[in-house]
Amino acid sequence: MLASEIKFLEYNKNENTLNEIEDYYADIVNGAVSKGDKVAVKVHMGEYGNLTYLRPPFVSEFVKLVKSAGGRPFVTDTTALYPKHRFTAKDYLKTAVANGFTRQSVMAPVVIADGPLGYTGMTYKLKKTVDQCDIKKVKIAKAIVDADSMIVLSHAKGHVLSGFGGAIKNLAMGCTTKETKAAQHLASRVILNTKECNGCGKCVDACPFNALKIENGKHAKILSRCMSCNSCFFACTEGALHLPRGGKTRFQVNLAHAAKAIIDRFDQDKIVYINFLQDITKLCDCCTPSGAPLVQDIGILGGKDPVAVDKASIDLIDKAPRYKRNLTKKHGDLLGSVNETDSLIHLKTASKLGVGTLRYSLK
Ligand code: SF4
Ligand code: SF4
Repeated sequence: MLASEIKFLEYNKNENTLNEIEDYYADIVNGAVSKGDKVAVKVHMGEYGNLTYLRPPFVSEFVKLVKSAGGRPFVTDTTALYPKHRFTAKDYLKTAVANGFTRQSVMAPVVIADGPLGYTGMTYKLKKTVDQCDIKKVKIAKAIVDADSMIVLSHAKGHVLSGFGGAIKNLAMGCTTKETKAAQHLASRVILNTKECNGCGKCVDACPFNALKIENGKHAKILSRCMSCNSCFFACTEGALHLPRGGKTRFQVNLAHAAKAIIDRFDQDKIVYINFLQDITKLCDCCTPSGAPLVQDIGILGGKDPVAVDKASIDLIDKAPRYKRNLTKKHGDLLGSVNETDSLIHLKTASKLGVGTLRYSLK
């Protein structure tokens, strides 16, 4: 496969970035949007209390480009699997308003793609699997299924299971219903050894999803709402919580397959991927807090190949000036290292599935 072309808008302190977006990305959007298309502008509008999600003015610039291309945009995301402030469509719409996403601010309707409770979608069987994938089918959120084209706007940041979270993660987790989100997470759920647990409660404090309790004052118990985020694993100093062997690898393999199923739903060249390399934190936009930025803001990357856009993002993040001197790469990449995995796993699996190539050229 030839190298994919990626357009790179480097942040320049002397320019207003919003004014530069049209020059850089109008061509790419025009290539994906036909007159009259219903266009999903896929975003993550941030958990309530997260302060590093992609801000609405960036989104509205892309909405304008879609309208200029003759498309009918709607700004969209799906509900979260965990019961915080985006658990149902009603919760999420309230959080969206609190985080600045309204019809007026983004200049398009804000739609929760997977219906009132997060289960509305259509199921597709995977045509091909590689790398011992756990999932066999993917349920895609209804509003994504109904779209003719899609602009995937992703905040590039860390993720506790995939290391890096960008375009592929936005597709796989962000465009699916609760059933498929849970299926992708299942492979990496922590295991508790009660014999090694002293009931100290550090894991309970660390859990962002209230999925742990101390039973009878003796030992921890993992509740069914556990999202396999692994925060408790890192908080436990007694070694009582264990990750299933290869859990993060299997999670990433699952991500790549779910992303492929979503791409297959669209006609060729009808999806565009834009990654925003800013507020690059260890954790994702579901977390409150997601941590302090690890490296300086970099810029925006855009193209038609999500593997190449994500790989270019990872490479630029690795090269960016770091805020802490002792921040080093232990695995393949920086965000993977701080999250104890190698982010390239999901990119390599996606590449094997024909989603894209790891080779790119920046323009
Ligand atoms: S993995 Fe641990 S911290 Fe994360 S949701 Fe499950 S119980 Fe909570
Ligand atoms: S942090 Fe570890 S030792 Fe403490 S309650 Fe949780 S599992 Fe048990």
